[in-house]
Amino acid sequence: MTSQGQINLLDLDSDALGHYFQEIGERPFRAQQIIKWVHQQGVTDFSAMTNLSKALRDRLLSETEIRAPEIESEQLSDDGTRKWLVRVDGENCVETVFIPEGERGTLCVSSQVGCPLACSFCATARQGFNRNLSVGEIIGQVWLAARQLGQLPKEGRYITNVVMMGMGEPLLNFENVVAAMRLMLDDNAYNLARKRVTLSTAGVVPGIDRLAERCPVSLAISLHATNDELRNVLVPINRKYPLAELLDACRRYANVNPHSEITFEYVMLKGINDTVAEARTLIGLLEGLPAKVNLIPFNPFESAGYERSTDAAIDAFRDKLVSSGLVTITRKTRGDDIDAACGQLVGEVQARALRHRKRVH
Ligand code: SAH
Repeated sequence: MTSQGQINLLDLDSDALGHYFQEIGERPFRAQQIIKWVHQQGVTDFSAMTNLSKALRDRLLSETEIRAPEIESEQLSDDGTRKWLVRVDGENCVETVFIPEGERGTLCVSSQVGCPLACSFCATARQGFNRNLSVGEIIGQVWLAARQLGQLPKEGRYITNVVMMGMGEPLLNFENVVAAMRLMLDDNAYNLARKRVTLSTAGVVPGIDRLAERCPVSLAISLHATNDELRNVLVPINRKYPLAELLDACRRYANVNPHSEITFEYVMLKGINDTVAEARTLIGLLEGLPAKVNLIPFNPFESAGYERSTDAAIDAFRDKLVSSGLVTITRKTRGDDIDAACGQLVGEVQARALRHRKRVH
């Protein structure tokens, strides 16, 4: 974990690496070579980089390093889901989750140590917030998972999708998340199609517009309520960016990305937001948007203060949405035996400030 002012190559996307090579008088295509070595071959030893001159390898060795975060522990769920506790510094760990399902393998990546948003039903929020993750710590989770899963060198593609749905609010760590996602998309790194990289946000409206400009990937919105009064409590950032503004931002995003659907996540909380009347309101809100809905049965955690909706309530809610033509999926609960399911990630966070949080019952 000690670095003596060296540049961590995991922090650099293709543009940043290109600049570095330009600065040291090398050709920009060196960036592609390095990205391949680091991300596709998983190589951390410069002497193995045989297509680079000895002089360049020596220079890289003295000025740079390839430093991934470290795996503190691994847990394996009965359903095949894996969760890694990833140490990012002496005090803090984040969590990364791999969810295999048939041909698909989804990696759920964290963007912050803890989370500064105070969503009342989310375990991560209860941890408080410490700091943003660096580019290397974000893409490092993909790098580590690929190695752990034996994906390297480049044979099986176990990771087919990445979702920025781990700890943290990705749009509040915008630049680092964008650079990391660019590496996910990079042909020479993880080569994922844009629709296979999803960023989920609680509704940071200016960030949605910037994302459309800078790195239009699949967008997911943590909606969870159909009116401002309830959403102010469940997802307090709604007080700053209320529903109407959020949905306008989604319309703008859809105009820039005409071929992609926006996923609306809706956590099913018993007696709070799960009536058929609310399903009807939701249909109205999403009208005209290229929307699909993911219903997430609430995943409990200690002293959460909420309960999961009954299966009957979830099915009735779904049937209502489906009857209006909205594609609706009830998200399968995965990895809950190891606390790896949505909203259960806690890592080890040294909070800088824990605020008082309002809850509804
Ligand atoms: N901060 C971003 C990324 C987190 S994604 C966001 O809010 O979108 C994690 C998803 O799980 C979000 O939709 C979140 O609202 C949801 N979630 C949080 N706590 C949950 C819980 N206890 N049960 C089910 N889903 C939960």
